[in-house]
Amino acid sequence: MGHCIFCSIIDREAEASIVYEDGRTAAFMDIRPFTPGHLLVVPKTHAANLAELAPADGGAMFQVGQRLAEALRSSEVAAEGVNLFLADGVIAGQEVFHVHLHVIPRTAGDGFGLRGRPTNPPREDLDYLAASVRGRLG
Ligand code: 5GP
Ligand code: ZN
Repeated sequence: MGHCIFCSIIDREAEASIVYEDGRTAAFMDIRPFTPGHLLVVPKTHAANLAELAPADGGAMFQVGQRLAEALRSSEVAAEGVNLFLADGVIAGQEVFHVHLHVIPRTAGDGFGLRGRPTNPPREDLDYLAASVRGRLG
């Protein structure tokens, strides 16, 4: 593996405002926050994407995200809501190839939002793709 900025943060070789860490995960402030208090949770073991991520690390990352979401509400960030977001792959907007869960505090009128419009496919299309995905679960 080459240079990874999040591994450098975990190893304290790069500067970061760390909020939390345990044996499996670390959480720190996003350097370019969408909203004030925007956090990132990362597994300490490098995984470039979800396919490489150990399920236990994924579970731990989500649990830390849950705890941070609660803390963001009662902290001075005063979040009224929270979005959890994870980009897996370039097309999904992933820019740093060390898996990370965004924890984005929300307040009224903060301007944050995901682009995209819901579609309204027929049930047979939903069933068709459901079967296709189900068949790959193993
Ligand atoms: P992605 O688009 O890969 O889901 O998000 C990458 C996130 O990492 C972005 O929100 C970006 O601001 C954040 N980021 C990139 N480099 C650094 C860094 O060096 N330090 C911190 N704290 N965040 C970073
Ligand atoms: Zn890394």
